Amino acid sequence: MYSGLCTFVIVCEICSLVLPLMPSFTPLVSSKLPTVGLTIFTQMSKLATEHQAINLAQGFPGFDCAAGLISLVEKYLRKGLNQYAPMQGVLALREVIAEKTESLYRTAYHPETEVTITAGATQAIFTAITALVKPGDEVLVIEPAYDCYVPAIELAGGKAVFFQLDPEDWTINWGRLRALVNDNTRMILLNSPHNPTGSTLSANDLLQLELLTRDTNIVILSDEVYEHITFDNQIHQSVARNPQLATRSIIVSSFGKTFHTTGWKLGYCIAPKELMVEFRKVHQFLVFSVNTPMQYAFAEYLSDASSYNYLSLFYQEKRDFFNHLVQSTRFKVKPSSGTYFQLLDYRELSDENDIDFARKLTIENGVASIPVSAFYRHAPEQKQLRFCFAKDNEELERAVLKLQKL
Ligand code: PMP
Ligand code: GLN
Repeated sequence: MYSGLCTFVIVCEICSLVLPLMPSFTPLVSSKLPTVGLTIFTQMSKLATEHQAINLAQGFPGFDCAAGLISLVEKYLRKGLNQYAPMQGVLALREVIAEKTESLYRTAYHPETEVTITAGATQAIFTAITALVKPGDEVLVIEPAYDCYVPAIELAGGKAVFFQLDPEDWTINWGRLRALVNDNTRMILLNSPHNPTGSTLSANDLLQLELLTRDTNIVILSDEVYEHITFDNQIHQSVARNPQLATRSIIVSSFGKTFHTTGWKLGYCIAPKELMVEFRKVHQFLVFSVNTPMQYAFAEYLSDASSYNYLSLFYQEKRDFFNHLVQSTRFKVKPSSGTYFQLLDYRELSDENDIDFARKLTIENGVASIPVSAFYRHAPEQKQLRFCFAKDNEELERAVLKLQKL
């Protein structure tokens, strides 16, 4: 459809019709995100569907959530709890989250003022950045980075300052990171367990971050959506474990990852009151509040720690099952430390770049994955693909059978 404004006309000498002369275009939009297209997750899932490939690309569990959780949602739907929840979230759920956080990470958050229920982690991240980043502010983004961070920073008028993890072991070189901090640094974005690499931060990393931010007004936005998925007896190093960091951190989590309910889009944010006041100013106008019956259901379900504390072992078994099968292929694997993702190195299989190789693998070999370069603004040379192993073993077996043929 053409929507330009016509500013000049001519009158036809033969039929006297008024005709537009050279329509002058006023573009309807000047994109605020000119370089952004469809996310890599949407693209690869679409490609997987088109070619009936096994979708180990977009991260979502291939199994259903617990029947008990569904019954609870039904109970609250039928109880008639179908109108707006309070803006901050259902208090009973905020109380359970505060209790869980204190018992796991030893920091107390006040359920009234320091916990907010969100429409998944994506909304929480967008809200936190919008509330705190002003034009000209710099935000340190550690790459590879989950895809929703940078667009949110740029829409807020902030400047993303990129720092790359060491590709050998996906660790942070704190000396190099320190060199990027200056008076304009407003925020540092952290993600552990880390998507896409499956790496995790150590207690020493938190200490380094504490030293780096001491005597600054830098806020940490800590994306901890995989907090309950850590392997090999490691404990999750939430920034809430470090009392100094906790005072300057907004922590984001997601029920989608913990309860196999990515489609419900429910999560939460915890932060000291001073930060939460600003967070809620934006939250109330972005969504106001999120769906009521599921909040009541989670309040009841989450109060029993066995609903989530089995998860690390559950996914560790999946990781080991998948990686054991992968030994029979020409991919190289360094086991993840957390998340439900595993990177595989295809150096011995192809010289192609990861985007082309991932597309080919989907179209010709029937297994979809995510090219790691999609998590960078300027990707370094690497040959890694991300596979989601949150699937039934039988599906993982079928996928690896296909990978064996390469
Ligand atoms: N952060 C990371 C690191 C993620 O992997 C995801 C989703 N997989 C999100 C945030 C978004 O979570 P949600 O689906 O709850 O919005
Ligand atoms: N977080 C999921 C992943 O990393 C994708 C979610 C989405 O498609 N936005 O695969």
